[in-house]
Amino acid sequence: ETLSRIPRDAVRSLETAVAGDVVLPGDPAYGDVRRLWNGMIDRYPAIVVRCTGVADVVEAVTFAREEGLPVAVRGGGHNVAGTAVCDGGLVVDLSEMNAVRVDREDGTVRVEGGATLGDVDRETQRFALATPLGVVSETGVAGLTLNGGYGHLSRQYGLSLDNLTSVDVVTADGQVRTASAERNEDLFWGIRGGGGGLGVVTSFEYELHEVGPEVYALFAWFHGDDTAAVMARYREWTADAPREASVIAFTAHVPEIEEFPEETRGAPAFAVFGCYRGDPEDATDVFGPLLEGDDGEGIAIADFSGPMPYVDLQSMLDEDYPDGLRYYWKSVFLTEVTDEVVDLMIRYNEAAPSAFSTVDLWHLGGAIEEVAPDATAFSHRDKPFMLNFEANWEEAADDEANVAWGREGIAEAERLAVASGGYGNFPGMNEDPARRRFGDNHERLVELKTEYDPENLFGANGGVTPASS
Ligand code: FAD
Repeated sequence: ETLSRIPRDAVRSLETAVAGDVVLPGDPAYGDVRRLWNGMIDRYPAIVVRCTGVADVVEAVTFAREEGLPVAVRGGGHNVAGTAVCDGGLVVDLSEMNAVRVDREDGTVRVEGGATLGDVDRETQRFALATPLGVVSETGVAGLTLNGGYGHLSRQYGLSLDNLTSVDVVTADGQVRTASAERNEDLFWGIRGGGGGLGVVTSFEYELHEVGPEVYALFAWFHGDDTAAVMARYREWTADAPREASVIAFTAHVPEIEEFPEETRGAPAFAVFGCYRGDPEDATDVFGPLLEGDDGEGIAIADFSGPMPYVDLQSMLDEDYPDGLRYYWKSVFLTEVTDEVVDLMIRYNEAAPSAFSTVDLWHLGGAIEEVAPDATAFSHRDKPFMLNFEANWEEAADDEANVAWGREGIAEAERLAVASGGYGNFPGMNEDPARRRFGDNHERLVELKTEYDPENLFGANGGVTPASS
């Protein structure tokens, strides 16, 4: 429909101007390129430009602005709210821009905007180096970094965005700009936490750290009845955990696979997932107090912990998040884990409409909270925990029950005195006001948005809107 009002000549000259493919409704590839990781998302863009480089991005952005089309940017296509595609607009698809180059002398890595975490770790681990990224290798670095970026390394080395040294950005006016601490500092501030609505980031440069190639992975499962006992140990453990260790705790259901005792399969469960990067000999001492109480209560029903290559740890959960399943994920930050938080996790887990769903508790703090909340656009520095409801299910008929479960769980958590604000990378369906995500940095982000994207060309992104619109 939108396409029919765009002059055919204009579309033809776009096709000539870009090196990559221009995919239109009706083209054989259209069905695939409009699809995202989250099977809930079903949108019909007017044009998808499969960019091969910065010049293609400039052409695509300029075309959209001149033709009055909204722009969605696709990095790894894994944002749960599906903001990488939009109805009736133009998609700047960066999937083919996934080159990664390690600069060993500088201790940095330059990554194109469509790369996945796996693309980056694969290259950096050649040299036993890494930058903090998330915990599932198939997700995109772009969305991850633009909104924060939590993973195994972040308590030690900060968020993904804290490790950015420079970015190349195509802004709404079609200009290519480099932003860093020295150049276009205001844009660099907004890129680090603003969620991406200021332009298309064509490449990211990150600082590298010595990691691996082998680390000690922690992955132990407990019976749901032991949740409160193991959580009590987790709360004590997190109080003085070393920064070389990271642990996410979550409620779930015991998978129906042979690695678990038959009589426990399908029952409510509790698990801890993380890693230790110090001397592997020390790993069992570090995690011991978490895995076993003095009273011998709460022993794991299955324990997959042990040394392994860092890249294996980074892809260990991939198979749990297949493309096309239905997902609704939403979070809230916590200043503390109280008994009420534990009780809420247990109750919602038992009532979950899908056995694939989890309630995750992320332990943050460390290097993350050493950065001032106004130093970058990411403001949630002083909250050492994040609670995330992951609703994961198969059938469209079950959408309502599963979305309601996640939404109600977070709404209840939000009423607790220890809760405030939400993470931009676990945004539900973007139903909440932008202030929940950006906190006190909201006003400054609106000013930047008004300067760099006054017409809200990148509005499909779901972040702040310019003051004028
Ligand atoms: P996309 O959907 O492509 O993009 C997300 C948003 O950013 C969109 O609005 C898009 O328009 C915009 N955007 C994308 N690329 C660009 C660009 N180059 N320039 C400008 N804007 C752009 N988060 C964590 O912090 N830690 C984790 O461990 C973690 N694990 C996850 C595991 C799974 C299985 C999934 C699905 C998500 C996980 N997340 C995690 C959340 C993840 O960081 C977000 O889903 C993130 O948005 C994914 O980025 P993407 O590039 O794949 O997304």
